[in-house]
Parts: sequence; structure tokens; C-alpha cells
Amino acid sequence: MKIPIQSFFMEKVTPKKKLGQHFLKEKTIAAKIANALPDNTPKNVLEIGPGTGMLTQFLVEKDLNLYVIDIDKESIAYLHTHFTELKGKIIEGDFLKYDLSLLFKNQPFSIIGNFPYNISSQILFKLLEYKTQIPKFVGTFQEEVAQRVCAVPNNKQYGILSVLLQAFYETKYLFKINASAFYPPPKVTSGVIFLERKSTSIDCDEKIFFKIVKQGFQQRRKTLKNSLKPIIKEAHYTENSIFGKRPEQLSVNDFITLAKIIENDPV
Ligand code: SAH
Repeated sequence: MKIPIQSFFMEKVTPKKKLGQHFLKEKTIAAKIANALPDNTPKNVLEIGPGTGMLTQFLVEKDLNLYVIDIDKESIAYLHTHFTELKGKIIEGDFLKYDLSLLFKNQPFSIIGNFPYNISSQILFKLLEYKTQIPKFVGTFQEEVAQRVCAVPNNKQYGILSVLLQAFYETKYLFKINASAFYPPPKVTSGVIFLERKSTSIDCDEKIFFKIVKQGFQQRRKTLKNSLKPIIKEAHYTENSIFGKRPEQLSVNDFITLAKIIENDPV
């Protein structure tokens, strides 16, 4: 069902800062975000943080098996009244704590949302946890996070999230959204990204890979040979020039190389 924009300030939900609520006002932008999810997407889709359904109204028009999850009681009540077609598919809950296997079992599903910015990184880490089931992901974050996800090496934005996500997903920065497009306007500009899972997985031990990426970036200014000392045998330092570099100079493949060295010769 369509929501008349003029009623926006009257009958909608009161924005709550602690829930990261900034409601999108511009319908054309909402349509653009909804359309960023490709048509060949799996039919199963989860929208995180639908709020008053600005994005949802365009998603329900598509041929999807759509579920939505929001933590806010008031938003949930609003959605129940205005989106009767989603009966049984409107979940009141915290996405971070929700057991996603309850929704789609082991079937693939995509994620979409204008996310609550206070939990951006946690949403992305949960995506990584469920990556084998999530082939596509479209979302709005604060621009700085959107850029971090898509950043390339030798760039100050490049960090843990860039390497971990790019190891498993092709990442694409789609477009910016000005703060004035939201009510209330957030303090920062927003950015929309699209992630598509790569067809091949990384060919090293995933746990080791995650560990060295995190450990490497914990001390950004240090060379790998210093920050990875406790987990890599010193004898390997001369084997590869990677060890003399700082984490932001390493490609995803360089981190995979490191993971393989540790895997084949653990401390
Ligand atoms: N998508 C809407 C609302 C964006 S505001 C729009 O574009 O207008 C972010 C939304 O995320 C709010 O509705 C807020 O209640 C919800 N939210 C905040 N924390 C959440 C959590 N942990 N799990 C699920 N939803 C959450």
C-alpha cells in the first residue's frame, strides 16, 4: 500500500535517536534503493529496519518473499496497519540477536535496508557470519562506512571491513544521499552500496584469515612482521616482502597468502 507523503509528519512514528531512526523522505530515492536489488535476486528477501515502510512500499510491489524486521514497537504497529499484505512476515525484534535460520531455513536470501547507523559494523559482521546464505546485499550506511566497505589498499579508509567483505563479495558504491533527504536529518551524508557474493571462496583457512586481518589492523602503523609476531614463525619473515608492509598496503590476496603460511606452519 502507498503512503501519502504529506501525512509524513502527522501520523507516522516519532523518530527515536537511540534506535538510529532517520526516516527517508524522498520517494524517488527509496525507489532507486529498492531497484538496486537485481531482479535475478533470490525471491527470499529480508529488509532490516523498515521503520514506516518507505523502502518497503517499493519492495512489496516486486515478486519477492519479503520479510521485514524492526526493533521499534511503534514502527511495527504502523507496518501492521499499512502493509496488510505482509501478514505473518513482519517481525518485531533485534536483527543482531535474531536467529535468521527461523526465516528461510537454509535457503539463500538477500538483505536490503536503510540501516540504523549506530549498528552499521555489527550488521556487516552478521552478514559475514551468514555469507554462505546471502548472495546479495543492498544498503544505506553513513557515507564513511559505505566508503570503507568499498575501499582499495593504500587508502586510509581501507581496513578490517574492506578486506573481510571484499574477500567474499564484489563491493560497489552506488550513490550518495544528502542528510536533508531524511527526517530528522542525520549529522552525516549517507552512501548506498551493493554487495554480490563472489562465485569462489577463499582458498585458505577462514578462521586464520579473519584472525590475521583483525590482528594486523589493530596496529595499523606497524608492519605485519611486528603485529603478527605471536602467530607467525620468524623464519618466514625473509620469504616474502609482505612482512615489511603495513596492513593498509596489503591486498585481500596478500592476506590470504599470510593465512596460508600460518596454516602450513603453525606456531
Ligand atoms: N528504512 C526506514 C527507516 C530507517 S531508520 C526508512 O528508510 O525510512 C532505521 C530503522 O532501523 C528504524 O526503523 C529502527 O527502529 C530500526 N532499528 C534500529 N535498531 C534495530 C535493530 N537492532 N534491529 C532491527 N531494526 C532496528
